[in-house]
Amino acid sequence: MVEEVAYWWRGRLYSEREAPPLAVPLRLVKVESVEWLCPKCGERAEWGPEPRCPLCGAKCEPRTVASKVPELVDAVEALERAFSRVCEARFRGAVALEPFGLFLPLFTWRPLDLELPDGSRLVGVYAGKPRFLKRGFRNGSTFELPGNLAAVVWSGFLECLAFEVGEPLKLVELLSASAGFI
Ligand SMILES: [Zn+2]
Repeated sequence: MVEEVAYWWRGRLYSEREAPPLAVPLRLVKVESVEWLCPKCGERAEWGPEPRCPLCGAKCEPRTVASKVPELVDAVEALERAFSRVCEARFRGAVALEPFGLFLPLFTWRPLDLELPDGSRLVGVYAGKPRFLKRGFRNGSTFELPGNLAAVVWSGFLECLAFEVGEPLKLVELLSASAGFI
């Protein structure tokens, strides 16, 4: 059996042929649900303890409906899959950023605004080693995440995800061109 895959881009699903270059491949998962239908007029009833037809009041009957929905993946998984469509890509680590707090990136990232499947947003990207400055500490030190592409993601807080990718500049260009500047 061939596994079905859809390509997710900014809240919409595409076929492989139509998918934008960085659309996220998602497996389609079969889910079954029950709907209640009127045996007389075929109208669908709201679920309730004893569902009745909203038109004629007849007692409705259950019917199992199978549908396919895209699997839910987190931001790391989504970005790794999207980047992997362009070149080799591997997630290497993450660090939480405080926009005006202790951790400030030493780099200037390209601002973007791209929704990811889990509802978080890719708000910036940078090609090069992701560096951070620890501020406010007596021995203010710098540390680096491994990887050559930094993706800044907002999901209620700012987080920097580091990836080791084959073509970091190409990915930055593709993201800038397709996801748009703010
Ligand atoms: Zn009815």
